Amino acid sequence: MKFNPAKRPLTGETLQSLEASLADRGEKPFRARQILDWVYKKRARSWDDMTNLPKALRSWLDATFALMPASLVLNRHSADVTDKLLLEMEDRSLIETVIIRAPQDGVGVDHSRKTICISTQVGCAMGCVFCASGLEGLKRDLSAGEIVAQLLQVCYAEDERTPRARAELASFDNIVVMGMGEPLANYDALIRALTIVNAEWGLGFGARRITVSTSGLVPKIIRLADEPLGFRLAISLHGATDEVRTRIMPVNKAYPLAKLLPAVRTFSERHGRMVTLEFILIEGVNDSLDQARRLRDIALDLHAHVNLIPYNTVDGLPWKRPEVARQAEFADILDRSGVSVTLRREKGHDIAAACGQLRLKTERERDDSRAVSEVSS
Ligand code: SAH
Ligand code: SF4
Repeated sequence: MKFNPAKRPLTGETLQSLEASLADRGEKPFRARQILDWVYKKRARSWDDMTNLPKALRSWLDATFALMPASLVLNRHSADVTDKLLLEMEDRSLIETVIIRAPQDGVGVDHSRKTICISTQVGCAMGCVFCASGLEGLKRDLSAGEIVAQLLQVCYAEDERTPRARAELASFDNIVVMGMGEPLANYDALIRALTIVNAEWGLGFGARRITVSTSGLVPKIIRLADEPLGFRLAISLHGATDEVRTRIMPVNKAYPLAKLLPAVRTFSERHGRMVTLEFILIEGVNDSLDQARRLRDIALDLHAHVNLIPYNTVDGLPWKRPEVARQAEFADILDRSGVSVTLRREKGHDIAAACGQLRLKTERERDDSRAVSEVSS
């Protein structure tokens, strides 16, 4: 399921691919770096801003590439810790990119540490029963250019809020691939996008500050372990036994724990870094103390960090978070055994929860308003 736009997004080009396109046109390769410098470092918003390029080259670029394949529809800045950018792709698909602000040290009040949560697909095919992103299935994969464009749009928005020194690149601290979609189901576009984000000719953003979250596509986890760029990995576990996990995550039928956990081990051994196990607490589903003990054993065995996330309710779905006392009891079982565990109780303050909340709501509202205007016209 791919979308073929009229023009290639420039944000999906690598230095090499751009050099090759320029060479085909008889241009000098150094032009590629100049162009990418305008895009990522000087944040040019139009081809005419690129004043050191000949006019003919600018016209060709304009006819060949979309400088920015995602337009900003809405920037929902809230007094709370999250901002949401609603972006529209060229086929009118909508995605949300979230900016989550947190204190630098995790406890202060400055909220200057910024994590950006990006999407990799429009919708999701994995069908996890608790998740809003998968409610309407998969519409399509995002291209590498559309994935990178989300981060560039965040840069634009942040540049407007806080004028920055020209040489400064990304104005955020971490990237989490936890928005809409299963990133490892769109593997090639994901890796191409993150390569562009990481490259010195791109956003120059460190791979170790990028976390990819997956529902557990085992062969792709093993492939990711072999990627030269050392991204961090988070696993949406949400069940500590096959019985519980299969009930809420259909992916567990194809890749049960006996396959998933060794793949996670392979990844962490290869990278020498702790993997994070995400565990949403859903009342009456996975919040028993037996699940806590089994999760503890898995985390100790894998030497993994556990992130407990009280479930955020989704319109139309029956699930809810357990009582605070149960959340604490659950966390305590892990903590007492020396597992590195975090539990955030404030609604929406957890990164995975904030990202996992993405809905197609606006898309539905837009469809509704279109239906209304069609009826009234
Ligand atoms: N598809 C990937 C990444 C996107 S989901 C994955 O599943 O890992 C990002 C995180 O948000 C996942 O851990 C997901 O399980 C979680 N999530 C989804 N819906 C949620 C909800 N309503 N409340 C809290 N977390 C949720
Ligand atoms: Fe897809 Fe992740 Fe939601 Fe599951 S939790 S439906 S994999 S986005």
